[in-house]
Amino acid sequence: MISIYEKEFIPGKGYKGICGFCNKEFYGKADKKYHSPCKIAFNNQKASKRNASIKDIKAVLIKNDEVLMDYYQSKGNSSFIAVSDLISSGFNSKHYTSTVKLSDGSVYYVINRYAYKTSENKKNVQIEKINNLKSK
Ligand SMILES: [Zn+2]
Repeated sequence: MISIYEKEFIPGKGYKGICGFCNKEFYGKADKKYHSPCKIAFNNQKASKRNASIKDIKAVLIKNDEVLMDYYQSKGNSSFIAVSDLISSGFNSKHYTSTVKLSDGSVYYVINRYAYKTSENKKNVQIEKINNLKSK
């Protein structure tokens, strides 16, 4: 970060800066980082990147919800399911929507309509419907 005192000042034009978007020189206020049109372009680019990553996370959460639903429907909530099976079905444990801590101290990771808790060795999970969890 360049201090404003190190920036060249030209009376009538302002401080000399290098645009952080197009790398071209410009003159303006000392704290100005972009040409005006470049600032708009930069903000648009930032917003579209953010929207893309939100879309990616949404897709992961939808997939996770589907995987949990498939296992819940075929095995119910009483059996433990191997984490490796979930992952090979496309499950991504990095993303969940919230956590719920029950009075017995167990923590469930919530993904849309389903939640799961991991076994102590973290190799298995138990899946529960979120509605059933609330009544526990
Ligand atoms: Zn520029």
